[in-house]
Amino acid sequence: MSNRLTRNLSIRALPSLALAGAVFVVSVAMITDKTASAAETMETKGGGKWAYHGELGPDNWGQISPSYAACGAGQSQSPVDLQNADTARMQAISFEYRVTPIDLVHNGHTVQVNYQAGSSITIGGDRFDLLQLHFHTPSEHKIDGQAYPMEIHFVHKHQASGRLAVIGVLVAPGNHNLAAQEIWDHLPTQANSATDKPRVLINGRDLLPDSRDYFRYMGSLTTPPCSEGVSWYVLQQAVQFSAAQIERIGKLMGYNARPVQQRNHRMVLKAGGM
Ligand SMILES: [Zn+2]
Repeated sequence: MSNRLTRNLSIRALPSLALAGAVFVVSVAMITDKTASAAETMETKGGGKWAYHGELGPDNWGQISPSYAACGAGQSQSPVDLQNADTARMQAISFEYRVTPIDLVHNGHTVQVNYQAGSSITIGGDRFDLLQLHFHTPSEHKIDGQAYPMEIHFVHKHQASGRLAVIGVLVAPGNHNLAAQEIWDHLPTQANSATDKPRVLINGRDLLPDSRDYFRYMGSLTTPPCSEGVSWYVLQQAVQFSAAQIERIGKLMGYNARPVQQRNHRMVLKAGGM
């Protein structure tokens, strides 16, 4: 309920505080067109600066701009704590991920891999194209109250309807991951910078765990404008990265996880027994 409690905070305090928070906030206008086409950053255009700490932090996102109102007033927000899930028979997700050249952007909020066209997921006959994947440290979703050190979001768009479907993959410390290393080795070290390596190929498939069983619920983007109507599929099994790999990207991005939001009357379904 923290969003509602802080909604009366005066928005007039924000411009001066934006200067103080300059380390954390980045002008969206500086992001390249390529980045702006990615789902989770595109709509922040023209909205206003936001951050993960302080006065521009998650509790106040809803007051930064009218276009961010859903961040404060929305009733179906993400992330959530995935507990008390109802087990259901659900269709398996079919992953059709191909290799993509390294095209990385550090946009000040996250490190993002822009994905070349041609990769998708299919769920129950609906195909969603993979646009980009990006990282959060620590995880945004929790399972039974437990957070993980990292979460990867694979953002997809349904061609005809424009609906978004996001696959959330939790990351646990363990084995070294080769695909992650390929990304890490080419990470832009400064905010608002990009790396293009047309000859270095990675496959998002290599960042997925073996089991594709999932939790499903209806939620939102976890960054402003917090638009709702997003289908979330959070995989039940975590993928493993080495502790050093997790630490490296965590240090580069800093803390970039929105706190869990109220479930309200939403159901969380757990796909099992397939
Ligand atoms: Zn995300």
